[in-house]
Formats: sequence, structure tokens, C-alpha cells
Amino acid sequence: MTRVAVNLRNIVVGADVQIPLPNGRQVTPVNLDNAASTPPFLSVLQAIERFAPWYSSIHRGQGYKSVASTEMYESGRDAIKRFVNADNIKNTVIYTKNTTESINILAHVLQQDQKTRVVLSTEMEHLANDLPWRENFFVKYIKVDEFGRLSIDDLEKKLQEYRGSVKLVTVAGASNVTGYVNPIYTIAPIAHHYGAQIHVDGAQQVPHLSFDMKPYDSPEHIDYLSFSGHKMYAPFGTGVLIGPSTVFQNTDPFLKGGGAVRLVSRQFVDWDDPPARDEAGTSNVMGVVALVAAIKELESLNMVDIRSYERRLIDHAIERLQTIRFIKLYCFQAKDEARISLISFAVEGLNHHVVAQILSDEFGIAVRSGLFCAHPYVEKLLHMSQKDIEAFRKDPHLPFPGLVRISLGLYNQLEEIDIFLDAIAKIAGSREHYREKFTPGVKLAWHG
Ligand code: PMP
Repeated sequence: MTRVAVNLRNIVVGADVQIPLPNGRQVTPVNLDNAASTPPFLSVLQAIERFAPWYSSIHRGQGYKSVASTEMYESGRDAIKRFVNADNIKNTVIYTKNTTESINILAHVLQQDQKTRVVLSTEMEHLANDLPWRENFFVKYIKVDEFGRLSIDDLEKKLQEYRGSVKLVTVAGASNVTGYVNPIYTIAPIAHHYGAQIHVDGAQQVPHLSFDMKPYDSPEHIDYLSFSGHKMYAPFGTGVLIGPSTVFQNTDPFLKGGGAVRLVSRQFVDWDDPPARDEAGTSNVMGVVALVAAIKELESLNMVDIRSYERRLIDHAIERLQTIRFIKLYCFQAKDEARISLISFAVEGLNHHVVAQILSDEFGIAVRSGLFCAHPYVEKLLHMSQKDIEAFRKDPHLPFPGLVRISLGLYNQLEEIDIFLDAIAKIAGSREHYREKFTPGVKLAWHG
């Protein structure tokens, strides 16, 4: 039996800490909101505690602790490279705050090359992998099909249409709305064939399945990768951007200030080499300690085992959700669909926020509801027209449509999924009761 198959609730901090319900009852919560942020691993907290006595600000200090902290901070880059099989020499690992910052840095750096101005994003992206590109690029969105799955045909079509002008194809490794895992090793060779690079937004993929950036001479090589520590059991403010050192070598950094320079006078600024060049300001050393400890834990648990364990849980959820009347799932439900342990749905006749509130208030279950920072994708899944969206935009009091999402972590148990399934079946079976109780007098429309 793998380590992941046994109960891992104790591996994270706080899973069994009781919470109060509005009626005063104390319950053990069920956390199905791991795609937003995971609790820390216990080993992450222990690593921080162990390191704290040795902590000091890094790089420019000659004191013993400063040197030790610098060593730990710098060697963290190697651990990260090993984790995603990045090239040890050619790639640089830039520490950031989170995926959002990583992609903003990348967009800022890449826009300095004036030659190629088109970026191909997709219709399924989180706003972090959409908005930063809109500012300085001509962004085209690769289409998704009626189930929200990425169209590889449309990718090729757009690469042909904008042949020679596409700088980058930027795509989520896995969707934070539907849970689909995108075929990045199919996309990478196609992008490279047309002279474009590929960036993978790994925020939802890296915590759940092993990631391989592949060698530079492979057509499947992933040129850039971003991800966040707080979604992989290290919520201490560190994210990562990985890419070729040469790209960051001669470009203007996104954040400017101390730590990013070699020498400055009133007349000139000589920026440092990457990665320091893109890490202005005092570094988040503790965040790196946390991330490295989380990576060690994930590696020891084995990413393959994590994936298959979580897959079993989500398949169980999908199977039962399909049988519950008035529930609509927003994903393609084939057994062999590549997916992470996350799924979105709606309960007919109940607003998504209300469903989330009932789950929390009555059952102690945490889920997420809304548009999940992927507004255009959810709007598309809900078949909303531009006119519909404008109407909601004009009247902020209208309850905007949206979905409910459950997202699992490796510490979730089958029993917890069953608690959720029983709760949602009860809600779907007593919609009138719950509607009256939570939104008395309000007739809520169904936006399926
Ligand atoms: N991309 C995806 C697919 C995400 O799910 C998220 C977080 N919800 C982000 C990017 C942004 O991550 P962060 O908030 O850590 O910057």
C-alpha cells in the first residue's frame, strides 16, 4: 500500500480542528477548497521552526546566519528544478509571490522584444494568464469545445493564421474550473514548429501530478513554467517562474529596486544577472524554506501515487453527482478524461453562493462558488451572451450566475467526499426549503 492510500489527515495542519456552525454546534470541517489554497504540511511548519533560529536577511550580509540563509535560499532553486525537471544550467528559477506575479513578470519581460507581438492564450484561462498579456500584446484565444475542452485544431489554425508573429502559446496545465489537464506535450511541439514558445500556468497542475519541463532539445520542452507555493501545502508567500536565463539576461525587470542591481550611479543602472535581476527587494526566505519542504514531502509521497489517489476520490464524486437530480456538472465526464481532482457544478434553482453558504452553515463543508477568476470561461460554460453579461454589468445588484466547485487535496478522505455527496443530495432534494431558509422571498433564476 502506498503512503498516500493511508489516512494522511495528520500530514497537514488543522484538518481536524473543529469549527463552529451558526447554530453553535462544533463540527470537524470538510475542506473541499484546496484549489484556492491548501493548508500547510506539518513538515513545512516544522522546517520553518527548525530554520527560524538561523534566519537572517540574505545576500549582502557577511554574518554567519546571513551566509547560511543565503545558502538555503539559493539551493532551493536546485530542489525546484529537480522537482519539475528543469534544465540545471540553462534555466533560471525566479522566486515570486505567486503565479499571478510570475506571469506578470514574464509578460513584462517578453513584451520588450518588439518583433513578435501575438500571444495565444486560451478561452479556459484563469485571469492571471489572460490579463497580463492584454496590456502589450495582441492576444488571441484558442477555442474550447462545448464541454470546455481545448481545441488543438484551433491552436494550429491560429498558429497558421498568425504565422511568424506568435511569440508565445500560454496555457493552463490544468483548469481551475473544469479540472481538465491540457495536453501540453501535444501543444509544445506544435507551438515550436511555428517558432513560438510555450508557457504553462502550472498553478493547478504542479500540486497534483508530476511535472516535466523536458530537455531543451526535445520538441516537447516547456519553455516557461509558473506555479504557487500556497496551492501545494506551502502557504508562505512564495511562487515560482522558470525560464531560460538568456531571456531574462538583457531585459528590464518588472520590479525595480535594491538587490536587482550590480552598480548604480546618477547616470546609469547596471542590472544584476538573473535570477537576482528579477527579485528586487528583501527576499522571502521563509517562503522558500516552506516551498522546499513541501516539495520534499510531495516527492516522498510520490506524485504518481498522489495523482491516482486523488483521481479515485474525484471519480467517486463525479459518479455519484451524475445520479443526483437537479445537479448539473460542468465538465466532460468520460472515465479516461485527463483531469485533476476538481469539479464544478450547479444546483438547478439555487444560486451558487447560496449553495456554498448552505454547505458551510449546515454541514461545515468548505467549497468555492462564483466565477473562480476565470470569468470568460465560466460565462462561456454557462452559455451567457454578451448582452446577458452587459445586463449584469449595468446592474450590480443582480446576482451574477456562477458555479460551485469542489477541489480535493491529498489529505481528503473518501468519507469526506461521502459527507459532501450526502449533503448536496439533501440540498438538491429540498431546494424549496433551503431557498426559503437562506433567501426568503427571493426567486432565484436557473442559469444552466
Ligand atoms: N492560474 C490558475 C489556473 C489558478 O487556479 C490560479 C489560482 N486560483 C492562478 C493562476 C493564480 O494563482 P495565485 O493566486 O497563486 O497567483
